[in-house]
Amino acid sequence: MADVKELRVSVIGAGMGGLACALAFAKKGFKRIDVYETASNLGFVGAGIQLAPNLARVLDRWGCWAKIHAEATTVTSSSIREGSTNKELSLVQMPDVAELYGYPHCVGHRASLAGSLFEGCQKESAITFHFSTALESIKSFGPDKAFFTVKPRDREAYDVETDILLAADGIKSPTRTALLKVINSSAEVEDTGQAAYRIMLSRADMEKDPEMLELLDSDCALRWIGEKRHIVAYPISNKTIYNLSTCQPDTNFAAAPSVTYTTRGDKSAMLKVYGDFCPLVLRMLNLVPEGEVCEWRLRSHKPLESWTLGAVTLVGDACHPTLPHLGQGATMAIEDAAVVAECVNAVPVTDGKIDKTALSRALKVYELLRKERTYTLVDLAAFSGRTLHLGEGKAKDERDRQFAEGRKKGNSVPDKWASPDVQKMIYSHDCVLEAQEKFEELFADLAAEKTNGVAP
Ligand SMILES: Cc1cc2nc3c(=O)[nH]c(=O)nc-3n(C[C@H](O)[C@H](O)[C@H](O)COP(=O)(O)OP(=O)(O)OC[C@H]3O[C@@H](n4cnc5c(N)ncnc54)[C@H](O)[C@@H]3O)c2cc1C
Repeated sequence: MADVKELRVSVIGAGMGGLACALAFAKKGFKRIDVYETASNLGFVGAGIQLAPNLARVLDRWGCWAKIHAEATTVTSSSIREGSTNKELSLVQMPDVAELYGYPHCVGHRASLAGSLFEGCQKESAITFHFSTALESIKSFGPDKAFFTVKPRDREAYDVETDILLAADGIKSPTRTALLKVINSSAEVEDTGQAAYRIMLSRADMEKDPEMLELLDSDCALRWIGEKRHIVAYPISNKTIYNLSTCQPDTNFAAAPSVTYTTRGDKSAMLKVYGDFCPLVLRMLNLVPEGEVCEWRLRSHKPLESWTLGAVTLVGDACHPTLPHLGQGATMAIEDAAVVAECVNAVPVTDGKIDKTALSRALKVYELLRKERTYTLVDLAAFSGRTLHLGEGKAKDERDRQFAEGRKKGNSVPDKWASPDVQKMIYSHDCVLEAQEKFEELFADLAAEKTNGVAP
């Protein structure tokens, strides 16, 4: 095959990473893209999501940003408060994010982000979705071709032959398990010991309470912090919804380790966990209808030895699951997609042929481009969580002093999400530009080393 755009690209998973992979390859002109998803439809859990400038930069190139932006809230400040008293520890003003990084910092609805990616995919005739179809096993990782088996819910399983397999199959990634097994490695799960409630309150719920209404009508992202717990809150969907995402010790999942990663939570248990938080927070938590409390288990992994093997590579939570404290999990998955498409598109055609080892090497370049950055952000999110969750003592006193100092000077604060220095590192990043600038050199280095991700 002499035309890289004729390569068969198979994607496992239609989460943020999978949708973005399909769209990224279609936008590059690839003609044969298939997406296999276990679920019968997109079915995204309703919740808010942070839409930082580094994400907006990628989405804008695909023509997806304008619609998401129109419904989103542009955050101009972040208020970090003591959960128990509502006392403000720091107010970080960020009115100039758009000026500094080309795009504002927004928060929005997950359905808005996923819906826009899906809409973008539907306009591309190159993309075929296979819903209700699960990856069962991988028979060969290549490098020449990958072979895998999928099972549609109501039909017999069948085999698929592909030139590239992108596994965006999430935190429980079966592809990761299979890939690591072949290279005699494993993914060590790091028990974060944390879980999250995700809550959405409607304007109708909040409008009788002036204090709540003020929050809903603001452009401020709030974080109430306490020992081992915190709550993040911001308005989304044209300020018709107030989104709250909590983080607390994982007791329910820990008590029943075989259950899935999300479960119906118990409202009284939730109220008990935050029982010592201020009346405003408790009034909001009380508004959650009984039976609509949803709890997520927060998991992460130690860095993987490899993301790539032959014609197969991992994307998103499959290779770098993260705690949500930096709001970059989905963003990293979408950036991965943009970078892997950039790398495969740059594969050289030699003597009218695409060398399969070169294709595998291009996937390895993607991994090299993304690994250090994503693992740095994963570590930073974990670090930020530890700092936010400090209990009484000297370390907490020092943290609160730094919050107060940051407020005065407008510089670094212990909440890394709101810290201008960390924002600069994250928001100024242009993953596509980086891939374009570094591909050739990294690709040549791998060729010289003769390491191309092929099984030893
Ligand atoms: C509480 C919480 C808050 C968060 N807040 C933010 C935020 O503000 N900003 C942000 O950027 N990120 C946030 N994240 C992280 C973000 O949600 C994830 O990082 C992101 O959704 C990962 O996308 P993904 O496509 O890699 O995986 P997933 O979204 O998990 O998608 C994987 C897909 O693969 C499918 N699949 C799995 N196995 C198979 C199989 N065998 N065959 C076929 N399909 C399969 C699944 O059904 C699923 O659809 C948050 C996460 C949590 C838990």
